[in-house]
This record gives sequence, C-alpha cells and structure tokens, in this order.
Amino acid sequence: MSENCIFCQIVAGKAPGEIVYKDEQVTAFRDQQPAAPVHLLIVPARHITSLNRISEADEGLLGHLIIVARKLAEKFLISQSGYRFIINTGPDAGQTVFHLHAHLMGGKPLSGLKR
Ligand code: 5GP
Ligand code: ZN
Repeated sequence: MSENCIFCQIVAGKAPGEIVYKDEQVTAFRDQQPAAPVHLLIVPARHITSLNRISEADEGLLGHLIIVARKLAEKFLISQSGYRFIINTGPDAGQTVFHLHAHLMGGKPLSGLKR
C-alpha cells in the first residue's frame, strides 16, 4: 500500500468508495465524477503506478482484471448495449491518479467521450 494513494486507501477501506466488487487481486468502485450512467474503476489491489510499470509477472493479474470487467459489464447490464474499457497512461492520456486503473463506461452512446 502507498500511504498517500487515494486508490490504495479505497481498496484498504480507509477512504470512502462505492465498492461494487472486491477480491484478493482487484477492487472495482464507482467513479466519483461519472462520465456515463455506468462508470466504474477497476484497480489492482497492489499499488502499480501505471501500465508503464507492468511486467510479464502481471499477466495473470491483468487477465483477471479484464475478466472482472466483462462480468461487471454483464452485472450492470451494458454488455449488449456496449461499453468502453480504458486505461489512461501518462500526461497525454490525462492520467490523474497514479495507481493503475481501468475505466469501464457504458449505459449511453459514448462517441467522443474519451475518459
Ligand atoms: P484518470 O484520468 O487518471 O484515468 O482518471 C482518474 C479517475 O478517478 C477520474 O475519472 C476521477 O473522477 C476518479 N477519481 C479520482 N479520485 C477519486 C476518488 O477519491 N474516488 C473515486 N471514486 N474516484 C476518484
Ligand atoms: Zn495505490
């Protein structure tokens, strides 16, 4: 855990977050400023700053994270209407929280919506 990381704090239950899924590897919670009717963030339990810091050892974790995204899309009833799965990385992508996270967004047409 990185003490001053807001997502580590949410995973540890030390900061508020509307958690919709949690297991030993990943936690998913609602984005505090949703850009779509369904806007979830799926984060590894381990503090990884960005995609730039992943390695072959993380293959299982990232595969698991994507499968959790697919299951959440089904649970939140957007698997057929469609959704976006985004991992912003670095300044040009607008990454603002430096704990790896995937956005899962859907529930309305997303054309032009980049977050
Ligand atoms: P990024 O641009 O880094 O991919 O997006 C970070 C996302 O985290 C933003 O959509 C922002 O609304 C969300 N966020 C930032 N701080 C918090 C927080 O404390 N709680 C929750 N639930 N979401 C947050
Ligand atoms: Zn963290």
